[in-house]
Amino acid sequence: MKVLVVEDEHKIANSIKKGLEQESYAVDVAYDGNDGYDLASSESYDLMILDLMLPGLSGIEICKKLRTNSIHTPILILTAKGQLKDKVDGLDSGADDYLTKPFAFEELLARSRALIRRPHATSGTVLCLDDLSLNTLTYEVKRGAKSIQLSSKEYALLEYLLRHIGKTITKEQIINHVWNYDSDVLPNTVEVYVGYLRNKIDKPFPEKTNLIHTIRGFGYKLEKKLNV
Ligand code: CA
Repeated sequence: MKVLVVEDEHKIANSIKKGLEQESYAVDVAYDGNDGYDLASSESYDLMILDLMLPGLSGIEICKKLRTNSIHTPILILTAKGQLKDKVDGLDSGADDYLTKPFAFEELLARSRALIRRPHATSGTVLCLDDLSLNTLTYEVKRGAKSIQLSSKEYALLEYLLRHIGKTITKEQIINHVWNYDSDVLPNTVEVYVGYLRNKIDKPFPEKTNLIHTIRGFGYKLEKKLNV
């Protein structure tokens, strides 16, 4: 397992590195935001431990940029202030969990293990329907030979639908599975995201069968229906 630590306080960064190495993780360290982003976007990591206040790019900017570029490495943010807003901003920008400084190393380890254990980070499977494929290890999504760039939420939504091919999925089910950190998502938001997905996996391919179907009054279904 390979971990990237982005933290400008050398003492903290080095002690995290040392501790993780003792647990047999491979650890890279970046001491500013730009180096951190460059590493995170060019190397493959199982986990990123990310400070928020950094020289160069901030932790929030790094999260947003990575997710926009379809890099879904689990991110644990370190927040110095412990203020609610930092945590919310971090999670909203695509981080998976947070830890408030100062923290006990045991807790950092436990949270790291939990994030690395998440199925999307460890099991590589290709989910397919017709010529649409989603690789849960590389996060690559394709329709035929064409690569499709999805945001983090769009990816999660498509993965969820692909795991339930042929079944009608309600908006509530989607909210519960795709927006687990965000309790006040409205059904309208789901409609918006389903629209985004359609624009990427169905609309650009008018010669192909549409895969996302609306089941009026119930929700959505992913399936290949023959054109009539
Ligand atoms: Ca800092």
